[in-house]
Amino acid sequence: MKRCSFCESKESLDNRLIEGNGVRICEHCVISAYKILFGDDDLLNDEKDDKKIFTPKELKKVLDEYVVGQHNAKKIFAVGVYNHYKRIFKSASFKDDDTEIQKSNILFIGPTGSGKTLMAQTMAKFLDVPIAIADATSLTEAGYVGEDVENILTKLLQEADGDIKKAEQGIVFIDEIDKIARMSENRSITRDVSGEGVQQALLKIIEGSIVNIPPKGGRKHPNQEFTQIDTSGILFVCGGAFDGLSDIIKRRIGNNVLGFNQEKRNKSEEENLIELVEPDDLVNYGLIPELIGRLHSIATLNQITEEDMVKILTEPKNAILKQYQKLFAIDGVKLTFEEDALKEVAKMAIKRKTGARGLRAIMEEIMVDIMFELPELDGYEVVITKECVINKVKPLYIKKDKLIA
Ligand code: ADP
Repeated sequence: MKRCSFCESKESLDNRLIEGNGVRICEHCVISAYKILFGDDDLLNDEKDDKKIFTPKELKKVLDEYVVGQHNAKKIFAVGVYNHYKRIFKSASFKDDDTEIQKSNILFIGPTGSGKTLMAQTMAKFLDVPIAIADATSLTEAGYVGEDVENILTKLLQEADGDIKKAEQGIVFIDEIDKIARMSENRSITRDVSGEGVQQALLKIIEGSIVNIPPKGGRKHPNQEFTQIDTSGILFVCGGAFDGLSDIIKRRIGNNVLGFNQEKRNKSEEENLIELVEPDDLVNYGLIPELIGRLHSIATLNQITEEDMVKILTEPKNAILKQYQKLFAIDGVKLTFEEDALKEVAKMAIKRKTGARGLRAIMEEIMVDIMFELPELDGYEVVITKECVINKVKPLYIKKDKLIA
């Protein structure tokens, strides 16, 4: 029987021996030696510590490249993400006292199409972590018809190509969290009371726990093998429009509304109010306090203005106009949108009330006929005017500085 030369323990499956020149060392002694040399925490967190933590400023800069406006929300999000990854990658090796950094998640409050999902997606892409996007309205408590809350984690695991460790550091975006508010005396909504049950189920995974998930999704089965996911390192970002929330805030602060409104004239009264949101307002809205307690960073997003719509069309790294221009350039065609035309597109999007989400569809409607002819337009410049957008007249086709149509 081989024995460790240091502690004399016998070789076994969970204590293997490494042989050297006439000596042997067992796994336990290797670990003890490592601890003597480098300390406890280093050993446990060696791998995690390799991860680069981006600073809030670096993260905000990345968001700025893709998300127009929403500066305050971007700042809060950047700090929230920084704190989150600092907690999971660095805090264990920084034990100066018994303070444990609590798991904190993020809540976006803002109208539809204002960039909530885009922010979460941009962040996940930059950090190279998987992201799962789910709609709170499709979730149900276990045992009801609909999607189990755990399925979100199955999705995340799929996005991580089945790599559990990767999934455990990913981002989950839960949209329309306001739609699972319970009924409260402040609002009359016609939804079943199960909203509260879904909130409880969400709370369990958001606060950080070990969750058993069916690896292939779908319903839990008694005979199925489960995968265990630790959600304590997963960043949960919840989003919602919270219609009617400003009324609740207004009721709380009463007449003080007048004062601050004068300072911030460029925003609607509702937006100014929403910025003053406090956790209690969300409780009044119908979210359970325990869930709100897990969403420490609350970021509010504004309605997209006409000016910002134009910027969204033209400025971000993968702006819609830039994408069309590239499609055209591949066919040897230069695409130009006159400033007035862009403003018209922005106005149309505002009318649709779907925020910036409407922009792509509007652009597609304008471009489809032109793209139908695109392969024959090699060498031309296509100029889209205001008239093209409003009255669907043909654009200007310019060839070698000569107007032909
Ligand atoms: P929601 O706030 O409803 O989650 P999304 O983030 O899904 O809205 O936005 C829908 C689409 O509109 C995005 O994919 C993006 O193209 C565009 N968009 C919305 N807001 C912005 C913004 N602030 N900056 C750039 N693009 C935006």
